[in-house]
Amino acid sequence: MSSPGNSKANGKVESAVKTAKNLLRKALSARTDPHIAILDYRNTPTQGMESSPAQRLMNRRTRTLLPTMKTLLQPRAPQSERDVQQLNRRQFQQCKYYNQHARDLPPLKEGDVVRMKPFHLGSKEWKKGTIASKLDERSYMVETPDGDTYRRNRYHLRFIQEKRHAIEEKLAEAADKRKALEDCYRRINEAASGNNLSSQRCSDCHYRNHTVPSCQMEKCESVFFCGELARHPDKKMKLQEQKNKIIALETSVTKLEQDLRSREAAFDRVHGSVKKLVEDMLLEEYPEEYVQNNSRNWLKIQQDIAFVKKSLQGNGPPRREIVKSLLETK
Ligand SMILES: [Zn+2]
Ligand SMILES: [Zn+2]
Repeated sequence: MSSPGNSKANGKVESAVKTAKNLLRKALSARTDPHIAILDYRNTPTQGMESSPAQRLMNRRTRTLLPTMKTLLQPRAPQSERDVQQLNRRQFQQCKYYNQHARDLPPLKEGDVVRMKPFHLGSKEWKKGTIASKLDERSYMVETPDGDTYRRNRYHLRFIQEKRHAIEEKLAEAADKRKALEDCYRRINEAASGNNLSSQRCSDCHYRNHTVPSCQMEKCESVFFCGELARHPDKKMKLQEQKNKIIALETSVTKLEQDLRSREAAFDRVHGSVKKLVEDMLLEEYPEEYVQNNSRNWLKIQQDIAFVKKSLQGNGPPRREIVKSLLETK
């Protein structure tokens, strides 16, 4: 079973639909009977094989508009081993080609915030939801904020680590600001090393070996010329302000990171254990409902766990009586 809308998992069907559509289109443009076109298709050996679709389905050829020998219309032994081998080889080849370009997307875990690719034609909205449970290798149950659940293939889900993303943006911002500030200090130091700070300076132009009354230079415009922060108190204050802002930003990022980490840990603890508890209860209480022919019906189990969890709304560990009554009134 494939997730709705995941036509990739239906490769065979999709390709048959494509072939059929092409046939009908060609028949239409050539003004021939589409039924004849389909009949011919069914009697033509499939590429890479020695049998036609009709032969594989009915073990014999069907009549066409061309005269055919009677012996050719006789039923032949069911699918020879050779045909099966060829079919397998073809499927293996197709699988190989597909896998050459296929790449596994990173798995999602419960609680991950995702967006679902819009299915309906014309719809552009990527609905937001959280992963309620993992059904199999690539299939997930997604719960939207309004409480609806959807089954989706990983391929149709985009993982938005909104919190992570915000943290990374802030980290980058802090790093940029810190770099700009360090650049400032570097330029000031360079200017300072060009000047001899130990000697007396003019308090107007900030150059050496004279005083204001005999100054013939222009007033120092910037700390980047003289390198003496003490003589540019406005700039000194501004730089200190920037420094404080960066420190505040870095502190908030650290807090956000800690918060996210503890939330993730708490989520794993609570949901991991609640889910496991409910799962054990369900299997113990209703084995005939969830286990058929010795194999567990994971889809039903996951759906019912999601239902129980939603009904409990995170109110502590589930008690057996409550879970039972919830399921029985469902
Ligand atoms: Zn001067
Ligand atoms: Zn100066």
